[in-house]
Amino acid sequence: MFGRAPKKSDNTRYYEILGVSKNASQDDLKKAYRKAAIKNHPDKGGDPEKFKELAQAYEVLSDPEKREIYDQYGEEALKEGMGGGGAGHNPFDIFESFFGGNPFGGGGSRGRRQRRGEDVVHPLKVSLEDLYLGTSKKLSLTRNVICSKCNGKGSKSGESMKCTGCQGSGMKVSIRQLGPSMIQQMQHPCNECKGTGETISDKDRCPQCKGEKIVPEKKVLEVIVEKGMQNGQKITFPGEADEAPDTVTGDIVFVLQQKEHPKFKRKGDDLFVEHTLPLTEALCGFQFVLTHLDGRQLLIKSNPGEAVKPDSFKAINDEGMPMYQRPFMKGKLYIHFTVDFPDSLTPDQVKAIETILPRPSSQLTDMELDECEETTLHDVNIEEEMRRKQQAREEAYDEDEEMPHGGQRVQCAQQ
Ligand SMILES: [Zn+2]
Ligand SMILES: [Zn+2]
Repeated sequence: MFGRAPKKSDNTRYYEILGVSKNASQDDLKKAYRKAAIKNHPDKGGDPEKFKELAQAYEVLSDPEKREIYDQYGEEALKEGMGGGGAGHNPFDIFESFFGGNPFGGGGSRGRRQRRGEDVVHPLKVSLEDLYLGTSKKLSLTRNVICSKCNGKGSKSGESMKCTGCQGSGMKVSIRQLGPSMIQQMQHPCNECKGTGETISDKDRCPQCKGEKIVPEKKVLEVIVEKGMQNGQKITFPGEADEAPDTVTGDIVFVLQQKEHPKFKRKGDDLFVEHTLPLTEALCGFQFVLTHLDGRQLLIKSNPGEAVKPDSFKAINDEGMPMYQRPFMKGKLYIHFTVDFPDSLTPDQVKAIETILPRPSSQLTDMELDECEETTLHDVNIEEEMRRKQQAREEAYDEDEEMPHGGQRVQCAQQ
């Protein structure tokens, strides 16, 4: 999948191809592409290679996101990133979508009047390990291909007859009387030939496809999941979808779906992991082993004398996810620490702790204490309580609304 090395690996070639400066605006790009693409269009005797390069350059530079990647990292970074895996798009599609059709009319030498078949999209479940290490998956699919026996003609002789239902037009016209002097003409595809305009006699039918012109075929596709690919990323097999006569075959597109990982969460190129420390380890130091996605055992330990606070984060550089297309670079691994406090302590434990962690010297005097009122603390689930209170407020508000709370509305109406 690493074909076609770029002629130059810098990040100015696309600008040179279009003949614009590096700070060209979208308008400049459009003008430059319009002029050059018409001049170099193969239908007008232009060089197909040059035409393709123009389309490629325009496709990248007209997309702000791709342009930024290109400006920063050059062509190499985009090579396989474009649309996920493909070597860019069809230059004629880019040309036609730019002009909203072929501006030269129907006279194209390659007869590009064909319709395009549908793309077939499959979800592809992958684990976080797959995305970390990269993998390949063989998938067996059934697709329709043009019958090889009749070359998609559907008949033994290669001949077909005009459909008698529509005289070969593929369309039927029906007339509906709408009123005394009004009729409505409606066109719809012919039901006898399914809109193809032709029929094949029973005797002449191709024995392999029974006149259907296509046959199902089993095909094994090898999907390469590259290191650092993301959930939702597409891997495209151009022209591998169902074939049909007179149709440009669509693509098979796999969309990666990452399964939840029991231990690691991913955000971009970074990984997050939860770790709970007993209070003693939070205060006196800890070490533990974390098995990484590739099976390596990471020894994770505190710095001497360091105390870890509850709900704090620490990070390890270069132990996150490999970056897509730059797998030698990795994100960070973040560890979120929770500290497990003891529920209660004995009086002896309290005394022992006080000898090493003395209380701050702001003890209240007896006189000050005498002036205070005693209170009792009790446990709460604060989230639960807040939710209940919010609910109660909303209900009260709803009742307010239902009541004919006239005063304000009348005022509004008078303004
Ligand atoms: Zn017909
Ligand atoms: Zn056939």
